Amino acid sequence: MRICKVALDTPLRQLFDYTLPPELADAQPGARVRVPFGRQQLVGILVEHAQTSTLPQEKLRAVAAVLDNTPLLGAADLQLLVWAANYYHHPIGEVFAAALPRHLREGRGPGAPQPIWSISAEGHASLSVATRSRAPRQQQLLEWLARTGSSDEQSLNSNFPGWRVPARKLIEKGLLQVSLQQTVSSGNDAPIVEHETPPPLTTAQTNAVQALQPALAGKTIGNFLLDGVTGSGKTEVYLRAVGAVLARGGKVLVLCPEIGLTPQLLERFERRFGASVAALHSGLTDTQRALAWHRAATGNARIVIGTRSAVFTPLPDLALIIVDEEHDSSYKQQEGGFHYSARDLALLRGQQQQVPVVLGSATPSFESLLNAAQGRLLHLALPERAGSAVPPRLALVDMRAHAVHKGIATPVLQAMQRHLDAGAQVLAYLNRRGYAPTLLCQGCGWIAPCRSCDARLTVHLRNDRLTCHHCGADESLPQRCPRCGHEVHPLGHGTERVEETLAAHFPNCAIERFDRDTLRQPQQLSGAIDRVHSGRARILVGTQMLAKGHHFPDVTLVVVLNADQSLFSTDFRAAERLAQTIIQVAGRAGRAERPGEVLIQSKYPEHPLLTTLLEQGYAGFAASALAERQAAHWPPFARLALLRASGTAPETALEFLAQARTVLPVPTGVALLGPVPAAMTRRADRHHAQLLVESSQRAALQRFLAEWVPAISTLSIPRSLRWALDVDPLEVF
Ligand code: ADP
Ligand code: ZN
Repeated sequence: MRICKVALDTPLRQLFDYTLPPELADAQPGARVRVPFGRQQLVGILVEHAQTSTLPQEKLRAVAAVLDNTPLLGAADLQLLVWAANYYHHPIGEVFAAALPRHLREGRGPGAPQPIWSISAEGHASLSVATRSRAPRQQQLLEWLARTGSSDEQSLNSNFPGWRVPARKLIEKGLLQVSLQQTVSSGNDAPIVEHETPPPLTTAQTNAVQALQPALAGKTIGNFLLDGVTGSGKTEVYLRAVGAVLARGGKVLVLCPEIGLTPQLLERFERRFGASVAALHSGLTDTQRALAWHRAATGNARIVIGTRSAVFTPLPDLALIIVDEEHDSSYKQQEGGFHYSARDLALLRGQQQQVPVVLGSATPSFESLLNAAQGRLLHLALPERAGSAVPPRLALVDMRAHAVHKGIATPVLQAMQRHLDAGAQVLAYLNRRGYAPTLLCQGCGWIAPCRSCDARLTVHLRNDRLTCHHCGADESLPQRCPRCGHEVHPLGHGTERVEETLAAHFPNCAIERFDRDTLRQPQQLSGAIDRVHSGRARILVGTQMLAKGHHFPDVTLVVVLNADQSLFSTDFRAAERLAQTIIQVAGRAGRAERPGEVLIQSKYPEHPLLTTLLEQGYAGFAASALAERQAAHWPPFARLALLRASGTAPETALEFLAQARTVLPVPTGVALLGPVPAAMTRRADRHHAQLLVESSQRAALQRFLAEWVPAISTLSIPRSLRWALDVDPLEVF
């Protein structure tokens, strides 16, 4: 008897054993299978064959169907997913589910057999005899199918609305039949044409490409940190590296933080390499996503550019992995339960599949800087901007020393005027959307609270709403205080208010606002980007969205309106984040001929973070901040895992974590800190708490987690409790 182990999308931490009936015995690992599970049928992935099962034979159920003749995932893909489930201590079925596009997960999709409806022999025969009593819909469907031959679901849906009932009746009568048919994908063997002539490289770019060469040629294995200031031409280095790999028949995986926000990267790859590129990102429909994934998996795409989950895309002949903006926190999955880092998995995948990995950034993560210092990444530097652009000049504006008009200091307004008069564009960055973060009653001091969170509601004046940026609660904006009836006023500044202030101050300059309120759809974003490129927009106001890799050649002034928000944060990564944001947003200034200027508003201009960053640049700042991390024994000098829990009652999560803390003896070399309530304890009507696990050794931490997590899973827990483990968390407060 043949037994196989199947990954199923359930929270259980195991593979499930099934028998393979003789006719399905040649099903291969990596193929999807349909299996009975309880009273339902589930689609899973066959992970491996086995000789024996721990279950008695009579308990084993049989695989019902095999959905892929050619496995969907190769041996290397399976290995990566199994490793990820072990490292992140997450249920393996959910890990597999995270890796597959929804259509494929549900058993549909290209390459999977599609049901096809056609007329049976009896049906044909019945058409030629008189049809006295047949229902008209059934008759129409039969006649239509007789004309078209056979049809799939999609074409039935569009040609024959309401076809399912008559089809079922006809099948019961034996006049119609439904069968599964494998769809075959068309190949893409078009030769690789480079569609544009690349510019001659700068000296630094040449050195970087040369250092990559042996690895690109497959002669050595190596991982690289491409550490290039903003505008230094990192993308051109990627393009050359990709060209070299394609030329010898290799495939490339390119990860980027967000394709929607920065379409330029994808555009530049498509311009250079044309149709060999497949893009995988959240803006696709499920069908498009399944198609792009399938093009990659079958070798029909030579380059896959995708966001976080694209790290799992199967790619035959993979020969290079690039992680652009490797410091970006969106590489870490923060939602749901499976908290993986796509950057870290990219490095692992490179090691498993023996292909080089290039991490690129102007502001490398401290993890990567330490890896470079310790020789695990080869450090490639692009210290200067490409072309004629020079680095922007950064200066602090002391908010205490100047008149401040609605959150903007006089020298900043003057500088904006100067740059606008010179015909340039200016960019104002503020990491806070909405009109104001607070609604305050001046009579009694009431502040509009969220009913479900320990948080204030943000004022959105444009549509007269108060919304919670944590749980999404949304209510109408009151005119008067609900407690004392006095007038209420917005307090503080968000991007909507900055736009209003600047519109009043510069009435002749069109303003483009970039935040999640103004740019909900991808088309809105491309419209806004077009208005900036065409020069119609003169002032850009926005959040993080503007800090990403945009190339706006006419922007010469960048203003960071509020650098102080995270200066005093207790999170150990806050300083790194702030420095990265400042340098990235500053990098939008002066990217072409005209030099750039950057002004950073602060009430604490003598703060060492700001002075170090301005005087010594990101590298100098990182060196001193890394020394502090080492002294305080924080990552990357220590390894962390965070157990987060939440419940509907205030004590539930803390009680569960207290139990988790004592469920196993803690070995030496591992420390448990907590449990403590989370920084925002009540969020979306749930009470959150956490327990931190720390070790200086990754292996020691992993050994402990491997025993601890299964032990926690056996604790009996109240119904409302949810918990999740976050290995290598980005935030711990
Ligand atoms: P980064 O990704 O490092 O911020 P980009 O790759 O976007 O930088 O390059 C910045 C600008 O410099 C782009 O307009 C790009 O076309 C240009 N550029 C890149 N390499 C060269 C080069 N070798 N010669 C001239 N211009 C270049
Ligand atoms: Zn809320």
